[in-house]
Parts: sequence; C-alpha cells; structure tokens
Amino acid sequence: MKLITPIHITYIAAICLLFILGSQAYLVYDYFQTTRAGLIRESDTVLEEAFKKDLALRYTQSSILDKKTPINLNLKSTKPAFEKRTKYDFSNRKDYKNNILGLLDIVMNIQISKTIPLDIHQMDSIISGILKSRGINTNYMIYMLHPKSGKIILKSDINYKSTSLFQISSKYLTIDIINDKALQLVLVNPFGIVIKRMSFMLLSSLILSIICLLAFRALYDMLARQKKLVAFKNEFLSTIAHELKRPVASLSFNLDCLSAPAFINNQSKRDMLLSKSINATTELNSTINMIVGLAKLEEGLLTLDLKPINLKELLDELKIRFISNAVKQIEIETTYQADKDFIITGDAQLLSQCFANLIDNAIKYSDNEVLIIISICEEAGGIKVSVKDNGLGIPEAKLPVIFDKYTRVHADITKVNGFGIGLNYVKTIVEKHGGTVEVKSEPGKGSEFIVLLPK
Ligand code: ADP
Repeated sequence: MKLITPIHITYIAAICLLFILGSQAYLVYDYFQTTRAGLIRESDTVLEEAFKKDLALRYTQSSILDKKTPINLNLKSTKPAFEKRTKYDFSNRKDYKNNILGLLDIVMNIQISKTIPLDIHQMDSIISGILKSRGINTNYMIYMLHPKSGKIILKSDINYKSTSLFQISSKYLTIDIINDKALQLVLVNPFGIVIKRMSFMLLSSLILSIICLLAFRALYDMLARQKKLVAFKNEFLSTIAHELKRPVASLSFNLDCLSAPAFINNQSKRDMLLSKSINATTELNSTINMIVGLAKLEEGLLTLDLKPINLKELLDELKIRFISNAVKQIEIETTYQADKDFIITGDAQLLSQCFANLIDNAIKYSDNEVLIIISICEEAGGIKVSVKDNGLGIPEAKLPVIFDKYTRVHADITKVNGFGIGLNYVKTIVEKHGGTVEVKSEPGKGSEFIVLLPK
C-alpha cells in the first residue's frame, strides 16, 4: 500500500477546509432566509396590529361624530352606519375561511370608512410606533393597492421610488372587498436588523472559518517547511561532502608525495608538503567546526568562548591556508601596519570561520585571477576588518538581502555550490560579538565586506 504523503494530506485538508467553508456559507445563507422569513411574518403582524389600532381609533372617532350628528348615510335609520345590515359576499375569499376576526375587521373598515376613511399617514405614525417598540429601526413604506392587479393607489411617501435591492414586503392585508383595496408594509433595506439578528451566528461562523483557515495555513506552512528542510538537508549533505572532498584530496595527495621515494631526501619539499597537509587538516577542522556551529546556531545553543584575539595573526593564518590550498590563481594582499597588533576579545574559532567564509566567498565568486585585499584598522567604535575582492560583485538590488538566510545571487550563472547561509552565519556571529558587518559592491568590479568588532 502506498504511504500517504504530505501532498495527499494537503489535498485532504484543502478539501475538508472547502467543505467546512461551504457548509458555513450554506448555514449563514439558510439562517439569513430564516431571519428574512421571520421578518416577513413580523411585518404581516405589524401591519395587522396597526390596521386594528387604526380601526379602533376611527371607530371611536366615528362614534363621537355619530353621537353629535347622527349620520344615517341615507339609510333612514338612527342607528350608526355600520349597524346597517349589508350583505357581504366572502364566498370567493378562501383566505378568510378560518379568520372570522379578519372578516369582521374588513366589514368594520368598510362601514367606518363611510364616515372616516382610512388615512395612510395616520397608519404611518401607528406603524412607526409599533416598529420602534419591536426594535425594528429601518425605513419603510405603506402601500394601499389593488390586491388583484397589484396597482398602487396610495403610498405613505409619495416621493419614494423603489431602487433598493433588498426589501421585505408583508403579504397584502385586504381592508375593503367592495372597492378591492389592500395594504402592504414594505421594510426598505432592513440589512441592519437582519445582520443584528444574525450577529451571533455570523460571528461564530466567521471565527470558526478564520480558525479553520489559520489552522490550514499553519499545516500548509509546516508541510512546506518540512519539504524545504528535507531538500535543504539533502543539498546540505552533498555540499558538505563536496567541501570536505577538497582538503581530503589535498591531504591524501600530500601524504602520497611524502611517502614517495623521490621526496624522502628532499627536506624543503617535505616541509612544503607537510605544511600543505597541516593547512588541509586545518581547513577540514574549520569546515567541520562550521557545520557544528551552524547546527548549534539552529538549536540556539551557540555560546561564545571569549578570549583575547590577535586579529593580525588570525588573518595571516587564514591567508596562508587559502594560498596553499588554492585551486585558482590567488593573490592575497594584507594592508595593515606590521608593527601593530589588533587585539579584540572574542571567540577565535567562530571569528576565524567568519573571515574564512568571507575569503572563501571572495575566491568562489571571482574569475580565475583573484586579488583579495585584507585590511585592518582601528576605528572609534572598535577594529575594522575589510575583505575586498575583484570578483563578480553583487547587484545593488540584492545588497539589502544578501545577509538573509538562503539568499544566493550567482546560483544561476556560476556552478559554485552553496546554500546561502554563510553570510547569515557571519552576520549572526559578528552581531553576537556586538559588532556589525556591511557590504559595498559593484557588479563586475568586486565586493568589499567590512566587519567592525568592538575591542
Ligand atoms: P553561499 O556562498 O553558500 O551561496 P553565502 O551566504 O556565503 O552563501 O553567500 C550568499 C550569496 O552572496 C552567494 O550565493 C553569492 O551569490 C553572494 N556573494 C557572497 N560573497 C560574495 C562575493 N565576495 N562576491 C560576489 N558575490 C558574493
């Protein structure tokens, strides 16, 4: 059976995430529809309640009028108009079959309207009060219309033109079956109310979605990091193997020569071969120490072994080492005062690795004829060491990121091995000593790395 790879896990997680986000979106949509339906029902209730209140108000007013000047509406009766028996045909109003009270309201309205007709502005102020008491603070419109054709007869605001996309309309409330009239309440843009009613749901859904997204992002980053780490580890091992091969090859060649009969009696050649062997071992040792240093740095376990260091001696040793193991034509010039010692307090091994890195880079990123100028001078802030070369140089755009981990500028144009951590290592070590490192460079002309270390 094939193992589940990180790619599979990413796909599964992505599908799950999409599913979670989709179901959240559906839940929100469903809840929105429920809230909307609730608001429609509420607008029906508000309209009915307002109509009843208005009816009661007009009934009281008509009773007062009747008492003052009895109106018999040509019915030759002393009874109030609505007490006159009139036959209303509700046979085709199936919607009122079980709503006797609703029928009664319609009949009452027809009768009362003969004395005091329904005033849409009075309805408006009643509805405003009811909406406020229910916490529905939104614009609204009241329409008086023909329910069959939907043709509007009157509206509470004659200047209002419906341009809003989101409206909640109550169902038609029939108020007059003889003249075919109904009322409708329309809530205009009740977004605020819907959002308010959905706030808990929206908030929890949003939080859940954000948590899912962040968790997925973290998982994705972790997998990407893991992938990068594996690739980096493989590259690291092959580069280290390559880096170690060079001094080992030199060492084995020198030892072979030393044991060869031709060199047995040639003391000067033997001394040279011995010195080259010692340099090769020092380089091996230095590379191994750098690997250990990098590992410690990654783990945050790197500590400084502080002792007085003579920088001139340290750089002279490096100069000899690089010249004796050279694969290119190398010239290293030192421009410091011969009779002056430059002493600082630092970790000799780590600082030696740093300067070795700078010299190694100067050689790696140069053509075959390499000229390196190393200078030391005293500054107000400490001791300044400069390593200048005549190499490929670094484009200006890359200078601000050159000390960042994994930054490589010439990876495409040279066959030089590397993983872009050397300069970052230099910067970290120098800063651990309380110093700074900066670079000046011009493509095609060369680079200068300037390290300032406190005394
Ligand atoms: P590596 O050499 O392993 O790639 P470094 O961190 O030492 O990593 O260097 C990062 C990049 O900076 C190199 O890949 C190279 O492109 C550029 N660089 C460093 N030193 C020099 C130099 N002296 N001249 C030109 N380019 C350099």
